[in-house]
Parts: sequence; structure tokens; C-alpha cells
Amino acid sequence: MLRIPSDRFFARGVAALTLAFAANAAHALTVFACEPHWAALVRELAPHAQVRSATHAGQDPHHIEARPSLLAAMRQADVALCTGASLEVGWLPMLQSRSGNGRVQAGAPGMLMAAEFVSLIDPRPGAGGSPFEGDVHPEGNPHFQLDPKRMLSVAEGVAKRLQQLDPARRDDIQRRWEAWSADWRGRIAQWERKAAPLRGMRVAAQHTTFAYLWGWLGIEQVADLEPRPGTPPSAAHLQRLLEQTRAVPPRAVVVATYQDARGAQWLAERVGSGVPVLQLPSSVTDDGPTATLAGLYDQLLDRLLAVPR
Ligand SMILES: [Zn+2]
Repeated sequence: MLRIPSDRFFARGVAALTLAFAANAAHALTVFACEPHWAALVRELAPHAQVRSATHAGQDPHHIEARPSLLAAMRQADVALCTGASLEVGWLPMLQSRSGNGRVQAGAPGMLMAAEFVSLIDPRPGAGGSPFEGDVHPEGNPHFQLDPKRMLSVAEGVAKRLQQLDPARRDDIQRRWEAWSADWRGRIAQWERKAAPLRGMRVAAQHTTFAYLWGWLGIEQVADLEPRPGTPPSAAHLQRLLEQTRAVPPRAVVVATYQDARGAQWLAERVGSGVPVLQLPSSVTDDGPTATLAGLYDQLLDRLLAVPR
């Protein structure tokens, strides 16, 4: 669960950080991002910051090893920006406690959870949530980086907090936020026009990784390759999906780049002729066309639009 900081604790923390930065105006914030899309967002809003992503797009963000290099990065961080909603519950609390870094403990102003700035779909109260019960997400689906409108809300919240933590660059961050949000709104309108033919498309997919993207674009996920959230596809479950979807097959079977595509391939080969497997990035990559947030969305739309009709 997220702990909401008391106003006093929060104000004290901001004041202490403000003093620390005032003493050295040239000091750039060191930012620890749990996932690469949050690192990309901070680079847009505060390019002077030293940003490091704890994970890359090829890794499953539910299951990350708390390696010594991550611990070292957490120790140095002025700010940590993570998803929250228990996505990182299996590894982030361990890094926070072992780092001994008061700036990034739960409730400190330097610890930002993007989930605080948005509403989540599909909450499942009482559904568990320990790393041993699968990726059930009782607080709601945490994969909201694939909704550009929620991304706008997160960006606004992050920009405001960075301004508080780095008052010497407040005006610069404000200008960048205003320019970025205007550009992003324009892109959303363009993406929505371009993606209109995707409305009503039926897909099978693994996990709820792309649920926000489907919701935004009007795509229908008719089957989940996971028999239970966080459990890899089993032969029996895939056989059931094949029988359920044979009459009206999905147009594509989608997995994230961090997921094993074998179950998707098995289903795609049997469910209908020419049904492709799409292995899509769910976060920004280190290089190539998906190395920026806008590039990630461009790529997702292009790949989906290229599926045969
Ligand atoms: Zn998940």
C-alpha cells in the first residue's frame, strides 16, 4: 500500500532538500526510475537531471532482482520515480530499506509513485498481492504507461514535484512541462485519428500489460494467455482458448517483448490462417525508434495497423 505522507513530514522534507540544493545551485538531481518510461519522462521534463532506469524494456517489471548495482543507484538517488500500485512490491521495498537513503523512503518527497497521479482500471480488492500470489494487482492495473492521457497526468504531477525539489530550475521545468504537454496533446489527437481503423479489433494477449492501450484505442482483448495473472500459459489453458476463439478468431496474438512468445505462437498457428504474433514493447527501449515515449506510441500504432484485416 502507498503511504500518504503527513503534510508536516512532507514540508520538512521539501525544506531540507531545498536547503541542500540552494547550497549548491549547480547540483543536478539524481533520479532513480524503476522503469524506462519514467526515466524517459524525466529526461523530457528535466534534461539536466542524472537519470538512471533500474530496468530495461526486455525485463519483466514485476520480477526484478535487487542487484548490488541497483542498490548503489538507490543510495545515490535524490528522487525515485516508480509506478507504485504494488507493481514493484517484489523488489523496490528491499532496495529502499537496504539503501538507508532517507530521501527515497515511502512518504518522503523524493519518493514518487506515478500511480498517485492517476485512477487505475480493474481493481481487485482482496485478491492478494504478495509476489508469491502471481501478478494479480489488487489495487488496479499498474501498466498505465500505455495510456497517453494518464501519461499526461503523471507528467504534470512529476513536473510539479521536480519543481519543488529543484527550485533553482523551477522556471525551466515549468517551460518544459508546458511545451511537452502541448506537444503531447497534439500527438494524442493525431494518434487517435490514425488509429481509428483499430476500433473493434479483437486480439488475444498475455497478461493485462496492454489493457490501457486497448481501452484507449477501442481494441477488445478476447483472451488472456495466462491461466491466472502472472502464471505462464499452460498447454491445457491454450487448448481451451483455442476452442473458445475458433469460431471468431482474434486478429493477432500479442505478447510484450519481456514475455516468452512460445504460447502465443502455439495459439496463433492454430487459431486461424495468417494470425500473426505481435511481440510489442511495453516500455521505451535504450535505442532505436522506440527510445522515446512518442516513438513508443508511434511504433505500437504502426505495428497494430499493419496487422492484416
Ligand atoms: Zn501486471
